[in-house]
Amino acid sequence: MSYKPGSVRVRARRKHTRQFSSPPSHGIFFLILLWLALPAYVRGETSGDQTITSKRLADMVRSLRMRLQISDNIEIRIDDKNDKMVSSEPLAGGREGYRISFDQHFLDLLDDDEIQAAIAHELGHVWIFSHHPYLQTEELANEVAMRVIPRDYLKKVYLKLWSQIGTAGNLEELLGPEHRQETPTGVALLPIN
Ligand SMILES: [Zn+2]
Repeated sequence: MSYKPGSVRVRARRKHTRQFSSPPSHGIFFLILLWLALPAYVRGETSGDQTITSKRLADMVRSLRMRLQISDNIEIRIDDKNDKMVSSEPLAGGREGYRISFDQHFLDLLDDDEIQAAIAHELGHVWIFSHHPYLQTEELANEVAMRVIPRDYLKKVYLKLWSQIGTAGNLEELLGPEHRQETPTGVALLPIN
């Protein structure tokens, strides 16, 4: 299967935009204030905390999409509020591809491993859309995700997700049973007589 590079775009949607009509000297002051008021991900800075930049987010999507051999166009959007915390849907307006949306606050709670797990899960849904559209389940999305990221990362994302939305689910059902590494695979322990 060939991989066709598409574009990965990250957009932050700001709900409130206002126009300032001030004298030029005040204008500059306001611009500085506005700049400082913008969240770090819009300014493109790596701050002291875990705030992720839009470029790193796009890089993660690109890399995971390649490893999962998904050729669809994927957009990433960061919303002020997304009740599902992270979700995916086909692009509107007859445009080809899918959009993955993050809740800003939820995204800020995740470390890089967890962000990758969340993206891999949503890309799992995208993979199902194009391969088995009638089999869209959380379990299968996780199965696809676990081709490229460890089960533990998904587990951590679920725990954070549930604490945010105030619910809980069954990790064994969602992720399948946890495999214990008791003996290395392929090593037979035979009694010696
Ligand atoms: Zn899902």
